[in-house]
Amino acid sequence: MFTKKTTSLLLGSHLSIQGGLHKAIERAEEIGATAIQIWTKNGRTLKATPLLPEDIDNFKTTLKKSSITQMVVAHASYLINLASSDTHIAANSRAGLLVELERCEQLGIPYLVVHPGAHTGIGEEKGIENIAHNLDKVLEKFQGPTIIALETMAGQGTTLGNTFEQLNMMRNLTTFKNKIGFCFDTCHVNSAGYHLKTSEDFENVISEFDNIIGLNHLKVIHLNDSKTECDSHVDRHENIGKGTIPLKVLKLFVHDPRLVHAPKILETPEQNGHLGYKDEMDLLR
Ligand SMILES: [Zn+2]
Ligand SMILES: [Zn+2]
Repeated sequence: MFTKKTTSLLLGSHLSIQGGLHKAIERAEEIGATAIQIWTKNGRTLKATPLLPEDIDNFKTTLKKSSITQMVVAHASYLINLASSDTHIAANSRAGLLVELERCEQLGIPYLVVHPGAHTGIGEEKGIENIAHNLDKVLEKFQGPTIIALETMAGQGTTLGNTFEQLNMMRNLTTFKNKIGFCFDTCHVNSAGYHLKTSEDFENVISEFDNIIGLNHLKVIHLNDSKTECDSHVDRHENIGKGTIPLKVLKLFVHDPRLVHAPKILETPEQNGHLGYKDEMDLLR
């Protein structure tokens, strides 16, 4: 189902599905991307109108004809909070996540990036337990091949997932471990307190991730510069080369052979619509 066209570099950006899901593929071709990230539905709501067979066909045909690989990543709604102890919020979050997974399966999307959640006062440990429990409840109902990629977070407010230890614990506490991977966001990791100023820092962070989680579980990389300094706990994406993470460090994420398997996705502010991503990708190549 997810057989890939071969390419050495999986690089692209988050792209709009305005005008239809297949439009994202057309936009990807315009900027020369080999991987992309999309919403499969409106991210500002947990509800979704079901996909029509012609939308699915159109998306799959456009993808097949395109020069990009099958490396499409979906990003789940920010409204999902799997850490919540509120039964209503937790139930809605589980239902929302299940719908997103089913849409990914229908569209042949291998990875769904999910923000783990915010504990909102109940504490880190309970929040992490809730995340694992809610992931299990969703994965009991989902037999498709799509893998959840829990994203590294900046640690804003009570958001969980700002340390590799926390993320690893979430996976360890679940029953369906083979359905859980991770998404490494360079901006978030920097804001969370991991230094990314030098190539030595890069080596340290990658070995730390490998030791605690394992690079084989790293499924997606979000390649963003940051408006804020290391340890700010503030999540503000910046265009490549304009923020606090040196371009030479971001390039290491693009070219390191240990990370070759992971699609690298820009989520930087749009410049000249999606066409600006072309220049940013050129900088990184
Ligand atoms: Zn995200
Ligand atoms: Zn991200």
